[in-house]
Amino acid sequence: MHRKCNICGGNVILSPSAAERAKKYGGTAEYYLDLFPAHAGCTLRKRLDGERELLIRKYKEN
Ligand SMILES: [Zn+2]
Repeated sequence: MHRKCNICGGNVILSPSAAERAKKYGGTAEYYLDLFPAHAGCTLRKRLDGERELLIRKYKEN
């Protein structure tokens, strides 16, 4: 049971798995799947891209 990364579309594979987390920390597997809607790397890259765009926009305005 995997969520698709909402940035690259690949499977987000949790380790430990969502089911293991649910068993260990409580809650449902779905809850843990929803906690990680994208790969950590994709989230970071998206944020960096956003920051770079802001900088470029700022630079052009000056
Ligand atoms: Zn991804």
